[in-house]
Amino acid sequence: METPANKDGKPALVVIGNGMAGMRTVEELLKLAPELYDITVFGAEPHGNYNRIMLSPVLAGDKSIDDIMLNTREWYAQNGITLHAGDPVEHIDRRRRVVRAKSGIEVQYDRLLLATGSTPFIIPVPGHELPGVIAFRDIQDVDAMLEAARKHRHAVVIGGGLLGLEAANGLMRQGMEVTVVHVTDTLMNQQLDKPAAELLKKALEARGLRFLLNADTAGIVGPDRVSAVRFKDGSEIPADLVVMTAGVRPNIALAKTAGLHCERAIIVDDTLQTYDPRIYAVGECVQHRRATFGLVAPIWDQARVAGAHLAGAGHRRYVQQATATTLKVTGVDLYSAGDFIGADDTEDLVLRDPRRGVYKRLVLRGNRLVGAVLYGDVKDGPWYFDLIQSGRDISAFRRELPFGQAMCQKAA
Ligand SMILES: Cc1cc2nc3c(=O)[nH]c(=O)nc-3n(C[C@H](O)[C@H](O)[C@H](O)COP(=O)(O)OP(=O)(O)OC[C@H]3O[C@@H](n4cnc5c(N)ncnc54)[C@H](O)[C@@H]3O)c2cc1C
Repeated sequence: METPANKDGKPALVVIGNGMAGMRTVEELLKLAPELYDITVFGAEPHGNYNRIMLSPVLAGDKSIDDIMLNTREWYAQNGITLHAGDPVEHIDRRRRVVRAKSGIEVQYDRLLLATGSTPFIIPVPGHELPGVIAFRDIQDVDAMLEAARKHRHAVVIGGGLLGLEAANGLMRQGMEVTVVHVTDTLMNQQLDKPAAELLKKALEARGLRFLLNADTAGIVGPDRVSAVRFKDGSEIPADLVVMTAGVRPNIALAKTAGLHCERAIIVDDTLQTYDPRIYAVGECVQHRRATFGLVAPIWDQARVAGAHLAGAGHRRYVQQATATTLKVTGVDLYSAGDFIGADDTEDLVLRDPRRGVYKRLVLRGNRLVGAVLYGDVKDGPWYFDLIQSGRDISAFRRELPFGQAMCQKAA
């Protein structure tokens, strides 16, 4: 057992989860109080910390794994952090304040940070455990996809959200014939309205992707490796690789077994503290008020707050903000932010320019912009996003709003 916890007389901080949220929180902490803790990090993956977002460009062949490493093992050593990579924590004993990893290593903590992320949701249809059925979450998944692309021809991606489309694009760029299967009639339905989704579908079809919308997967077929996907209507399409991108679930098994209060995820307050004052949690494994998280922008805010509280500079509070998304497919320009669907009390300003392939929908509540969907011309996306976040009164340039910042500045 690795004891005592505070070998240099320092309190011990143990971090479970060597991903984006956990390490960003440690970086924020080190900025404020580099010498405060003895830090030990456990990571289930056998690597340093990498930029998960950039797995899509790695799959597409635009970047290498080395390009996307954020903190190498040397960084941990330079900062006096003990890293146990490839060694997941299996048990938290809150009474003794000890965590135990798979290898048997036990480490005592004064403060514990949970940053266990999410687990991909694998639709439990018959055949989902066949070789060749994978998710898209980590380096191992990308390696499996690249290997499949070298050996096989037909890929099916189940789930036409952001992750699914990036997986499909990457596999197509690796030479596979790719069909995206989506259960509703709108791609990226969490980010796009129907007209924008239709433009996106056409653009991706023109590049060679195939789509099966309103398609309900009934099973994965194959004797000892996947060979086809079967639908509820009885039809089948060939598949040598099936990538499931049908959502994620917060990874809370460890927290639950430790008796921490969880609903859909680990409940935290505005300081990212769990119901146990010694334990903080950040990232996709947390639930703040009713919300859970799937993008890095809110996670960076959480990391800043949790890092400050761990540093003992506890004046920051986490406040949820509107988020914005883009699709990382080269040559496809889309941007979505805030409440892009709207409600009974909102109005839409819509600009369509089919010849240029441009579509913009701006959602207003009174004199404030609350949401935006942009397709084909996204250069004003960040400016619209600022307007959404600041809640600025747009009445002085409401008419010019769809034409972007330059026109609005002239009008105001
Ligand atoms: C391909 C892809 C593309 C994406 N693109 C975007 C994008 O464009 N924009 C955006 O904002 N977001 C994007 N995301 C989402 C973003 O990556 C996540 O929101 C972010 O990584 C969440 O950070 P996290 O630390 O909570 O989880 P993770 O980054 O998943 O880190 C959690 C870590 O904890 C480890 N772990 C779990 N259990 C244990 C345990 N018991 N012991 C030790 N370690 C454990 C996991 O192995 C993992 O390494 C993308 C995600 C993927 C997969």
